Amino acid sequence: MIKALGVMTSGGDSPGMNAGVRAAVRRAMDRGLEVYGIYYGYEGLLRGGDQIKRLNWQEVGNILQQGGTFLGTARSEHFKTVEGRRRAVENILERGIEALVVIGGDGSLMGAHVLSTEWPEHVEKIVAAHPDLYPPASQIPMLQVVGLPGSIDNDLTGADMAIGVDSALNHIVRAIDDLSSTAASHQRTFVIETMGRNCGYLALAGTLATGASWVLIPEEELDLRWHQKMVESLDKARKIGRPHQMVVVAEGARHPDGLLIGSNDVRSILVEKLGIEVRLTVLGHVQRGGSPTAFDRILATRLGVAAVDLLMDEPDVIHRHMVGIRRNKVVSTPLIEVVEKSREVRRQIESGDFKKAVELRGEAFQSMLDLVNTLTQITPALETGQQGRVVIMTGGADSPGMDAALCTAARCLLNQGVEVLGSRDEFYGLIHDDFIHLDWNELLGWVGHPSSDIGTARSDLLQGDFGRIAENIRKYNIKGIIAIGGWGTYQHIHRFVEMRSGFPEFDIPIMLIPATIDNNLPCTDLCIGSDTALNNIVEAVDKIRHTAGATKRAFIVEVMGKECGFLALMGALATGAEKAYLPETGISLTELNKDVIELRDSFECGKRMVIYMRSEQASPHYTTDFLRRLLEAESNNEFEVRSVVLGHVQRGGFPTAFDRILACRIGAEAAGALLKSLKNGSDEVLAFGLREGAITSCTLSEAVEQMDAVHERPKVQWFMDLYSMVHSLAKSRPWSENRPETGEGL
Ligand code: ADP
Repeated sequence: MIKALGVMTSGGDSPGMNAGVRAAVRRAMDRGLEVYGIYYGYEGLLRGGDQIKRLNWQEVGNILQQGGTFLGTARSEHFKTVEGRRRAVENILERGIEALVVIGGDGSLMGAHVLSTEWPEHVEKIVAAHPDLYPPASQIPMLQVVGLPGSIDNDLTGADMAIGVDSALNHIVRAIDDLSSTAASHQRTFVIETMGRNCGYLALAGTLATGASWVLIPEEELDLRWHQKMVESLDKARKIGRPHQMVVVAEGARHPDGLLIGSNDVRSILVEKLGIEVRLTVLGHVQRGGSPTAFDRILATRLGVAAVDLLMDEPDVIHRHMVGIRRNKVVSTPLIEVVEKSREVRRQIESGDFKKAVELRGEAFQSMLDLVNTLTQITPALETGQQGRVVIMTGGADSPGMDAALCTAARCLLNQGVEVLGSRDEFYGLIHDDFIHLDWNELLGWVGHPSSDIGTARSDLLQGDFGRIAENIRKYNIKGIIAIGGWGTYQHIHRFVEMRSGFPEFDIPIMLIPATIDNNLPCTDLCIGSDTALNNIVEAVDKIRHTAGATKRAFIVEVMGKECGFLALMGALATGAEKAYLPETGISLTELNKDVIELRDSFECGKRMVIYMRSEQASPHYTTDFLRRLLEAESNNEFEVRSVVLGHVQRGGFPTAFDRILACRIGAEAAGALLKSLKNGSDEVLAFGLREGAITSCTLSEAVEQMDAVHERPKVQWFMDLYSMVHSLAKSRPWSENRPETGEGL
């Protein structure tokens, strides 16, 4: 069993690295390990001295929300030499470190692999030269290394998303949104260069999430006339009333002959061929900077914990692995496999085998590319109306990203010749003949809209409504429905389907798309809108943390979610809150008693601020105000207690990149399934979602089966597995230290 662990960040920095360090350090300390922080990557490892320092619990406090890496990072040419690595081994041996957790890109992971494989050879030589200083080489046979994927490019296999990608993508999306408003004002075209020397993920996802007009990425095979095609497309768009255009270029985009396409060249081509004003914006390092998003913080936290658990739970295995999240599960992949497969894509691009490169990126990348190619068309492939007419509706409380799902689903249907009517305010339009004609071009900009442009309503369906709906379905010859919404919309559709025996008009296919910030729907791990709400919570709590001043303060932050604790739990994990009070677990007096003891201990340990996240329906009795008064009563005037109800700010604002992309992916799948049903004459009702990383669907009866109707949440909630992580990482000291008598243990 290892006793000492080194933690380091290396290569290019990426937002979320700090969350990974915090999680690994605290998990390791909780499991009884000595932990060393290695400063400035491999350069610090081989320099030694004060660049390798013992870390304590408090030193990794308050870093979760910071961008970059507090350990610093560097690139080290010296470490690439055998002699450099020998010095690194000496430093490791000197401190008795037996395992390393390395957060970085493919270079850093390769460095870790090389160091670990060469270890016996180095140790033998060092021990032979200094037998008095070290135990025999046979007693220190291996160096365990576990990597975490840290790279904004998302070019590492073995992980669906690397730490930092989501934050970078949100920077890109915000930048394109901002540039779009100035572009629209001046009727200008912009060329935007994103990072991604070998991977087009950021540019492609950025294009999908913003409705940009054109994209150039390294993996896509361009034909020899690519610039002509681009110019024609932009020109056509201008002629039909879209004077401002966004062209996104990944820095590694290539001509068919393999030469790099410079973003400035793209600008020059557009100026020359279209005779218009074109501005170039190179987004550069802003993409790496700033505070990490909720997604990156949670991803890095899960992986930091997983890395330590892997080392501790399988002590007899030689670990040269990277831990990553694939299909929403932690998996470990040999480092060498990660590096080789990741570099294979690069090799395919360089050799001009673009097809293979896209194939290696995986199915999700391929379908995103296909979707972008469809959505960037200037006109739909088929004439509208040839293939019948369908209705789209949005229902329930509005949620950010609804419009992204709506416009993508509608455009995919329009592209195949289906006419699409928006039913105003969910079923209201179908009842009262109130429809909005959805148009290919007009829908383009909806992808970033905050909620729903066609309105949502939360009224119940009355008995008399069904007859009118049936009449309108007949009158307008409606062949299918896409319903986007939350629990109420799912229930409305369920009732609608139950009325089929009385209304043959209802025998039409229906596709359900989950959109609610509460994340309480079946058949999906995440609902559209919940990522935006989570980021709103994270931003608010970060601001609250900034108010930590001279006085010690406890804050109770009440968040939404109804009977589902997703926002409270994930919000707590992403902000480093000490505790999450959830409806799933309830609140007991015994627990509150323990919490008060711990709270006092936290302040004694030097914390200035303690945050409790309380889900709005965690307990009908122990309300937010009750908790505030309880803690105040117990404070002995040694600390202040405040409460804040975040309320509707959680559901406001522009959707995050994640919500937009999720919405686009589900919207496209739902449209595809509806088209298939229209062709087959089927009346199936499917509920779509993101499950284990893939867009899937289940039947309405499966969805109903998965719903806990009493609590209005799914019967199984995957995120509850992360519950214990909140407190174990945010508490004031490790389990091994003397703690107040709360009776808890790891
Ligand atoms: P990233 O980890 O972001 O891909 P780099 O490719 O610059 O960044 O790698 C970071 C560091 O990892 C390098 O500066 C070097 O010290 C180390 N490294 C990279 N490749 C190797 C290798 N083949 N052998 C040993 N060390 C390596």
